[in-house]
Amino acid sequence: MITAQRGSLLRAKGWRQEGLLRLLENVLENGEDPENLIVYGALGKAARDWSSYHAIVESLLNLEEDESLIVQSGKPIAVLKTHRDAPVVIMANSNLVGQWARPDYFYELYDKNLITWGGLTAGDWQYIGSQGVIQGTYEIFQSIARQAFGGSLKGRFILSAGMGGMGGSQPLAGKLTGAAILVVDVNEDNIDKRLDLGYVDKKTADLDQALGWIEEARQKGESLSVALVGNAATVYPDILDRGIVPDIVTDQTAAHDLLYGYVPEGFSLDQVAQLRENQPQELEEAAGKSIAKEVSAILAFQAKGAQVFDNGNNIRTQAKRFGIENAFDIPVFTEAYLRPLFERAIGPFRWIALSGEAKDIEVIDQYILETFPDNDIISNWIKLAREHVPFQGLPARIGWLGHEERTQLALAVNDLVASGQLSAPIAFTRDHLDAGAMAHPNIMTENLKDGSDAIADWPLLNALIASSSKADLVAIHSGGGGYTGFMQSAGITLIADGSPEAAERIKLAITNDTSLGVLRYADAGYQASLDEIAEKGIRHIQLEK
Ligand code: NAD
Repeated sequence: MITAQRGSLLRAKGWRQEGLLRLLENVLENGEDPENLIVYGALGKAARDWSSYHAIVESLLNLEEDESLIVQSGKPIAVLKTHRDAPVVIMANSNLVGQWARPDYFYELYDKNLITWGGLTAGDWQYIGSQGVIQGTYEIFQSIARQAFGGSLKGRFILSAGMGGMGGSQPLAGKLTGAAILVVDVNEDNIDKRLDLGYVDKKTADLDQALGWIEEARQKGESLSVALVGNAATVYPDILDRGIVPDIVTDQTAAHDLLYGYVPEGFSLDQVAQLRENQPQELEEAAGKSIAKEVSAILAFQAKGAQVFDNGNNIRTQAKRFGIENAFDIPVFTEAYLRPLFERAIGPFRWIALSGEAKDIEVIDQYILETFPDNDIISNWIKLAREHVPFQGLPARIGWLGHEERTQLALAVNDLVASGQLSAPIAFTRDHLDAGAMAHPNIMTENLKDGSDAIADWPLLNALIASSSKADLVAIHSGGGGYTGFMQSAGITLIADGSPEAAERIKLAITNDTSLGVLRYADAGYQASLDEIAEKGIRHIQLEK
């Protein structure tokens, strides 16, 4: 079992290398299936295989300040001489060329051990446990509350599925809004993990009992989270048949992947493993049919007045492939609820205490509350997170911050490291699902104003500018499994070690990262982005249309 090194003792030749090594260890410490190097998202891997893992560790331990480690789909390729301002690690995960970017070809290469899927935060060592998307899910629910329920979800019923690496945050995010939330998962072990961590209140395998608990909480206006052991393809239609209509319905199973992710109804986990081995096509067919059944139920809930949304797992795309022509009547969460934030490059930013000390995060919480008192998004969230969100692995937080705010926070934290108020350096990363960092026409960039949804130049520019702006790790990711060809994204990490050089790196890399986010939406014609550019003095070259 891999656990992240704690404390202030260095094993590598500098904190940049040590910090990235601890992050690699941390994604496995928090991973869903660490023995197979799987971090989350059914197949999202930290390294290609164990020999790759050990070679990456060895390289990071021995890497000089003026060298860079090159990683291709989880396999270390070389250590090259670069310079002290170059990234410590650059990597490319799961990128396939145009017409070859298909699931069947990806799996063929995967079986030959030539490629891995890095997910968004697995392959580039940024995953911080289920809390990684918790504020995003919370903000979606809050946004629905404002749009459809007079600002509050008290007394409301949320239905979802999937309690894995990312989906596991749903019960807690739902509960924090004051609602009663029911989350269905076929894998009881995954439910038990979230129970142990405090991400969910209760579990049962009896639908009537679950609905009874939900109804009681709803009536009393109490918040509650319930996990139900079951298959969403069976449970959603069963709830519909009982004439019950939840207020909000979504799904965060690993529906993007029909071979390794979504479990078809009527099959045990062991049967799925056997089918995958012996009759993969039959498995894909069965999973697709179950998804179609579940999505039909979601559409029926929508017709009866429920607020429904796709939570970033490509479930609509799969359903459409399997015959549900109107699957895209379900809106995607980004377009429906989060785009106004992304237009100003406000997105999920993370900080991770490399010391392993929770008190380092508390110092940063305090700084944020004092520095951004008028920013409700971040200050409300930090207050909630402080009280309710448990740490997993190295203590960390995720909080939605925008252009200049992220740089300001990271620079202040770098000073706190320098002055000894934090016990070791802090790593900063952000989700790939960020304004300038992802082209995903079915999730992030769906229905952009100017129709530029599928243009992948932006995340590629993002990685290039991060590399030239001294980021410590830069990654270019694309799809894998069912996601193949659906997206292009970029990831960056910086280590705030308290040095003036780290301050310079933060200033350049984080500022340019969020600048590109604002510019991407300005280019697509969003007024809020143009306003942000004018307010913050970003040097935009605006041509006459
Ligand atoms: P995971 O593989 O760790 O967990 C998936 C869970 O779904 C498992 O617990 C599995 O048992 C359960 N499951 C599968 N089929 C089921 C079924 N038919 N009924 C009930 N439960 C079922 O995956 P994850 O990391 O939690 O990610 C889930 C999805 O969310 C992925 O598609 C991922 O790409 C997507 N995602 C979205 C965002 C976002 O920002 N919205 C962020 C990260 C991931």
